[in-house]
Amino acid sequence: MECLYYERGNDNAIICNLCPHNCVIKEGNVGICRVRKNSDGKLIALNYGRITSYAYDPIEKKPLYHFYPGKPILSIGSYGCNLACDFCQNWEIAHDERLTMEIDKEDILLLSSSGGSIGIAYTYNEPSMSYEYIKHISKVMRKHGLKNVMVTNGYINEGPLIELLPYIDAMNIDLKAMTDEFYRRICKGSLKPVQETIKRAVESTHVELTTLIIEGENSSDEEMEALGEWIANIDEDIPLHLSKYHPAYKMKLPETKYEVLMRAKDITKKYLNHVYIGNVWGVDNNTYCPHCHNRLINRYSTAEIVGIKDNNCTKCGNEVNIIY
Ligand code: SF4
Repeated sequence: MECLYYERGNDNAIICNLCPHNCVIKEGNVGICRVRKNSDGKLIALNYGRITSYAYDPIEKKPLYHFYPGKPILSIGSYGCNLACDFCQNWEIAHDERLTMEIDKEDILLLSSSGGSIGIAYTYNEPSMSYEYIKHISKVMRKHGLKNVMVTNGYINEGPLIELLPYIDAMNIDLKAMTDEFYRRICKGSLKPVQETIKRAVESTHVELTTLIIEGENSSDEEMEALGEWIANIDEDIPLHLSKYHPAYKMKLPETKYEVLMRAKDITKKYLNHVYIGNVWGVDNNTYCPHCHNRLINRYSTAEIVGIKDNNCTKCGNEVNIIY
């Protein structure tokens, strides 16, 4: 499949404009993501329609806590990634060669509407690396009343993002740190394009954010203050998921301590109405009304709406910003 968003450069090279790397790709070569190849002067999406894994997950696993709580969603992934995070939890999919299968449009449609699924979550690897495929499938989903969810690193150029957003119902975007130094050293990317993506996405779709807290790398009090404040300046209702880091891929630092996560929560909570902890059992991840602290959603084994009626808190009547 020929890619969108590229132009011809000098000496038969191609410039890919999908993400901020803007790779200059010589004939026969691939870009940093390994899935876009200059083949006879055309940029080809090598992973178009190639699926590495699929599963039905509760939407909370994406994580999305304020978007159809408790509902299952078909989750599919391909391969390829435009960042190279040392701590990648999905490196076998993102960076390694994997077996793939092709699932045609009719089967995707059938799978995404079975078992109570509300649609598709494009996840596991970086979904924007399957840009053309997602653009195609998301339009089909939309036509059939199904939802499109992206779990993304947000490292995409503005043009392609704007073109895709009208078909996307919800996004979980990684905000991996609040320093460009972290993005450059540990992820081989940069912070600003991710922040721009978040600001753009919030204007047109439901957005939740995830930060993997790596003790000593992005967990300082100053950074948590900056994180909470920056998000609140966009919208204090954006849910933030603080996930516990475990050693993975190239990063061998010890796992983040519970106390560090809870301190990160305390600090960001000064600015934000909803902060959740990920990858830890037994923490209070229920959703509470920011005005009267009435419990809106229980999250024990499965999510259950208990304090919302007609989009309002049942105790104080405050409007809640939750899609259900
Ligand atoms: S999408 Fe891939 S090929 Fe295109 S600029 Fe980004 S990393 Fe390079």
